Amino acid sequence: MTQEELFKVLVAHCKEYGFIFPSSEIYDGLAAVYDYGQMGVQLKNNIKDYWWEAMTRLNENIVGIDSCVFMHPKTWVASGHVAAFNDPLIDNKDSKKRYRADVLIEDYLAKIEEKIDKEVAKGRKRFGDAFDEAQFRATNPNVLREKAKYDEVHGRYLKAEEANDLGEYKQIILDCGIVCPISGTANWTDVRQFNLMFSTSLSNTGATDDKIYLRPETAQGIFVEYLNVQKTGRMKIPFGIAQIGKAFRNEIVARQFIFRMREFEQMEMEFFCKPGTEMEWFAKWKENRMKWHVNLGMGEENYRFHDHEKLAHYANAATDIEFNFPFGFKELEGIHSRTDFDLGNHQKLSGKKIQYFDPETGESYVPYCVETSIGVDRMTLAVLSHAYTVEKLENGEERVVMKIPAPLAPVKVAVLPLVKKDGLPEIAQKVVDELKYDFSYQYDEKDSIGKRYRRQDAIGTPFCVTIDHDTVSDGTVTVRDRDTMAQERVKIEDLRALIDKKVSLTNLLRNL
Ligand code: ATP
Repeated sequence: MTQEELFKVLVAHCKEYGFIFPSSEIYDGLAAVYDYGQMGVQLKNNIKDYWWEAMTRLNENIVGIDSCVFMHPKTWVASGHVAAFNDPLIDNKDSKKRYRADVLIEDYLAKIEEKIDKEVAKGRKRFGDAFDEAQFRATNPNVLREKAKYDEVHGRYLKAEEANDLGEYKQIILDCGIVCPISGTANWTDVRQFNLMFSTSLSNTGATDDKIYLRPETAQGIFVEYLNVQKTGRMKIPFGIAQIGKAFRNEIVARQFIFRMREFEQMEMEFFCKPGTEMEWFAKWKENRMKWHVNLGMGEENYRFHDHEKLAHYANAATDIEFNFPFGFKELEGIHSRTDFDLGNHQKLSGKKIQYFDPETGESYVPYCVETSIGVDRMTLAVLSHAYTVEKLENGEERVVMKIPAPLAPVKVAVLPLVKKDGLPEIAQKVVDELKYDFSYQYDEKDSIGKRYRRQDAIGTPFCVTIDHDTVSDGTVTVRDRDTMAQERVKIEDLRALIDKKVSLTNLLRNL
């Protein structure tokens, strides 16, 4: 199965087992809007808990807030979103499909990089142990040709981006022979800027000055509450403010399932520090956030940093944590050193003094800020795509198992009476009563035990507890492990501790 086919299977699986549904499906859906079902919401909540506790409980100088989606319209002038939160869009006149011009060029560049990597892999195979990669890259004619092509296009692209030269974007697309994947033609419109913010009206008069925006990021809610939190929380710099909440962007290219949505959720933390110390904090947060990801056990090799070459005008350092999604390494989280850009602009536009008085040095200054920003939905997709596993069993059958990190699994334990008689359901109910205060659970007495195991595998339940006739006489149950399928006999009173060891969020946090 290709990665693309696998991705389609994953999307279908998410729907079939109640993780994620296309929104308003009975009306044929709404592009790039998705609803979370009964399994999805629990997974998402567990991800949010892991992030929230790691931020606000493990760091005594980080507090959380919950600000509103609607904010004063001037917020978005100060933040630069009204003027510059644009994507360059281009339409193919034959297929009538819309693309981001920058993404078309970046994909073209990524393909050249892939070609170079393939050449290098071939070289490595040919020369074996004697292979000198640096020398090969510096001398192989095929590599040099592709590298020259890359450098030329990349240079033009960076300049066009810097100068916001939309005509040059189109020229690069034409010169590189980039065609629409649907129509296969290069019959492109001109490139236009498109603001990604959704707007609505606060009153019902329809006057244009009533226009307000649905926030495109949660961060600005933190910046405008900076003074309130700093004062009422008696916060001393350095300190952070964390928030989880909805954000809205009218994305031009809204494909790839929950990777790019028009309504999504972000987990953002703004860390305020003394000007001049921001690089130190930037490095610390890079390390800290990578640790948070790797701690989930989804494979260190599936993450990498991608440092930004071109920085946004307000940033003096930026990196992405990329994850190995089924469609390649893509941004999962952004870490930015945003200087005093946001607080400084809010100070200017609001006329309110937003300064920190340092009691130790007697100085006042607008704090600098390092931001960590991750999409809840993208994180959910990372977990789901990594978890989806098809295994061949000894008896020739296949099982689909979601190997979701146990503390994030929507259901932690399934309680299954072997048969619906002989007092087994009653004992099972007692087991449920014993476990329900600590763990999310499912009780299931329908179908054969094999079928019930498969159903739990498909939603990623770490433990199945089966009550059988021996339970009646000796008070033990069978505990089946999702990943190894190994079964062991355990006393009912020992169940809680056994399950907790593996699924506990506390233990996950302790490992950080
Ligand atoms: P991209 O380049 O993929 O559009 P971005 O650089 O615009 O992302 P940021 O503005 O840095 O993203 O937002 C921070 C995080 O919010 C991203 O790393 C991502 O996890 C998440 N995010 C951003 N846009 C979306 C979206 N449309 N749907 C889902 N998650 C998103």
